[in-house]
Amino acid sequence: MPAAGPALPVLGAPRRRAAMPPRHLADLDLAGRRAAAAELGVPAFRAAQLSTHYFGRLVRDPAGMTDLPAAARERLAAELLPPLLTPVRELACDDGATRKALWRLHDGSLVESVLMGYPDRVTACVSSQAGCGMACPFCATGQAGLTRNLSTAEIVDQVVYLAGVAAGGAVAGSPPRLSRVVFMGMGEPLANYPRVVEAVRRLTAPAPEGLGLSQRHITVSTVGLVPAIHRLTEEGLSVTLALSLHAPDDGLRDELVPVNQRWKVAEVLEAAWRYGARTGRRVSIEYAMIRDVNDQPWRADLLGRLLAGRLAHVNLIPLNPTPGSRWDASPKPVEREFVRRLRAAGVPTTVRDTRGREIDGACGQLAASEPGSANGR
Ligand code: SAH
Repeated sequence: MPAAGPALPVLGAPRRRAAMPPRHLADLDLAGRRAAAAELGVPAFRAAQLSTHYFGRLVRDPAGMTDLPAAARERLAAELLPPLLTPVRELACDDGATRKALWRLHDGSLVESVLMGYPDRVTACVSSQAGCGMACPFCATGQAGLTRNLSTAEIVDQVVYLAGVAAGGAVAGSPPRLSRVVFMGMGEPLANYPRVVEAVRRLTAPAPEGLGLSQRHITVSTVGLVPAIHRLTEEGLSVTLALSLHAPDDGLRDELVPVNQRWKVAEVLEAAWRYGARTGRRVSIEYAMIRDVNDQPWRADLLGRLLAGRLAHVNLIPLNPTPGSRWDASPKPVEREFVRRLRAAGVPTTVRDTRGREIDGACGQLAASEPGSANGR
């Protein structure tokens, strides 16, 4: 008898073999960097010096590390600071408070990162994969499929770059220090689990080992890969977990978030509550408001019943337009009624701003097209 095929394509499996990048300083912890320096015949303390430049001063280009002797600098640069992200284009809107960077990786893959300035904070939204294998029909990233996982350093380098932009005063009206990172760019972070967790460790380790951000100010957003949520629960980190729910019922969620065919609403919420109980962190439930699809009053009430009394809050996201999508955002009165019902059920609810729409930098719009290509700008 032929073996039964899996119910779903193997989610997260790359379509073609794409090469991982060369090793970089940010792939290693400080001990690993010291060992790498020693292997190159360079005194171990140079590893800390290099780290201070990169994580402490946000200097990514070895040419700016002038206190290192030329010979050692060259060797260290070649082995520990290979260029990972080649800038293709940078766009800004909201008077410079929102910026999107498009990068080419060493194998030609394209990814995007977004910097968002607010009066009290600056947030980096980073990609964890080139493309995405989760195939959510309302998300532009999901339409092209997955190319490959990003390395730890490819993730960290996006943040270090954006932190440098913020430190340069480019985000008018915001503090110069980048304080938050959200894994809400391209890709499903929990499908690239080890590298994402390692990136979190690098971002939160104190300088010069890492960037010194607070774990609480890092948000990992997921479609709901239940085993990976359990694994994250045991990791001993206190990052914020965001769950892209988008529907309170399996019938609709099977369609909007195809991974729901494998892990149902009840199961994914149970995993989220366990995460919240272990970490003490309130789970963020993300819900894109799609006109006449998931915005009915009865769905608000059902969602309210599922979440009432839990350590959770709802973040409604007005649906952002994506190329070729048959869906659009819920009308404002419908959105207000949805919010009202959730709050009446005792569930804290906010509506996310639609930052970056004009530059295709808002939630679900990151598709990394080249300037001049079909949907490039
Ligand atoms: N793969 C992760 C990380 C992406 S985060 C996840 O799905 O959680 C991006 C968030 O924006 C997710 O909640 C995603 O569902 C949501 N999103 C995707 N497309 C969108 C769109 N067109 N409009 C609004 N939100 C969207």
